[in-house]
Amino acid sequence: MPEPLTPAELLRLDREHVWHPYGPMPGRAEPLLVESASGVRLRLAEPAHGRSELIDGMSSWWSAIHGYNHPALNEAARGQLDRMSHVMFGGLTHEPAVRLAAKLVEITPEPLRHVFLADSGSVSVEVAVKMCLQHWRSVGRPAKQRLLTWRGGYHGDTWQPMSVCDPEGGMHELWQGALPRQIFADAPPAEYDETYAARLGDLIARHADELAAVIVEPVVQGAGGMRFHSPAYLRVLREACDAHDVLLIFDEIATGFGRTGTLFASEHAGVSPDVLCVGKALTGGYLTMAATLCTSRVADGISRGEVPVLAHGPTFMGNPLAAAVACASIDLLLGQDWQVEVKRLESGLREGLVRAAELPGVREVRVLGAIGVVQLDHDVDMTAATRAAVREGVWLRPFRDLIYTMPPYVTGDEDLARITRAVCAAASAA
Ligand SMILES: *Cc1c(COP(=O)(O)O)cnc(C)c1O
Repeated sequence: MPEPLTPAELLRLDREHVWHPYGPMPGRAEPLLVESASGVRLRLAEPAHGRSELIDGMSSWWSAIHGYNHPALNEAARGQLDRMSHVMFGGLTHEPAVRLAAKLVEITPEPLRHVFLADSGSVSVEVAVKMCLQHWRSVGRPAKQRLLTWRGGYHGDTWQPMSVCDPEGGMHELWQGALPRQIFADAPPAEYDETYAARLGDLIARHADELAAVIVEPVVQGAGGMRFHSPAYLRVLREACDAHDVLLIFDEIATGFGRTGTLFASEHAGVSPDVLCVGKALTGGYLTMAATLCTSRVADGISRGEVPVLAHGPTFMGNPLAAAVACASIDLLLGQDWQVEVKRLESGLREGLVRAAELPGVREVRVLGAIGVVQLDHDVDMTAATRAAVREGVWLRPFRDLIYTMPPYVTGDEDLARITRAVCAAASAA
């Protein structure tokens, strides 16, 4: 065993050497040091503002839907660890990956049939885009290589995903000149608006000759602004894409696995995409893995091409450990009455966040499924908001003008009430 480092030493080394998400170097604000986690609680190495345990209101960014240290997921990981934690996927295959792929095909909308196992959400979006561009190239329409999306989206931090993230005020504004130039519709209104829908259809029609695909997050736009929109827009997209020979990609990396009240958000509209990305909650927050699913039409197109293969193959593709935990996480989810749990969280969030609407500086409160959002009329004071939440014993990670929560599905009613109190406290302090 290496010599243990004190919390102070760890934090010093962290600040000196370790990048954190969207962070400067050296680090600015001191992160909290987490020692372990169990159920919905993070245990801190040293108390912060009088708290040594925090309820995780973020599910570690949408992923830990069953909470931490879950016996069933631990057992799946341990069992797989004793067999093999990894083996290359080129020329070899294994039960966890095969089972996972079959399971994903079974639970996602028809007619998605083929699965590419990627190692992160951003990579799954890269793969989705590559599939679409290559499909058109292979069937003799190489001019179709641009993407269309609506503003306010978020699809990841690698190059192609960055090009379809919200181009203004988002995390990737710096790169506007360098990124591939995509086509943007206005952000979708919350309620169905016929004029907007017509403009969306027109935009797709007008650019059809150069469009490979439309890519959107269905129903909930996550890290681009935590906005919800009418599912009816998904039908508009589906119809326009079908009418004008454009493929439709749904990025359900945040919304997948029950978060919005249906297993996949596209089910709110009864619409299925040609290509689907899932990630985040796929492994219940245990390990990094994502997947890109596509229809036989997309796959057949690629197979008919001059280069009849999909040239993508991450080193850790199909990682057995992650795949085994993902299978266990999906079984755990589907083996319970998860809709009831998500509904319970939805009513708890509505009830607990009503008060936030009355607070000065709050522009809007919105709840959908197990997602609660308080939008301010100004940018959040991160330090003050985080401190206020931690004092309530809750971990939140606000951004821009948003204080939000998407708790693990196993969050009990009392803990949920604490989370909504913390969101209100953070909104008051911010
Ligand atoms: C988080 C997220 C991604 C990127 O996934 P990573 O695993 O962070 O690369 C892409 N799209 C959406 C909608 C996301 O929420």
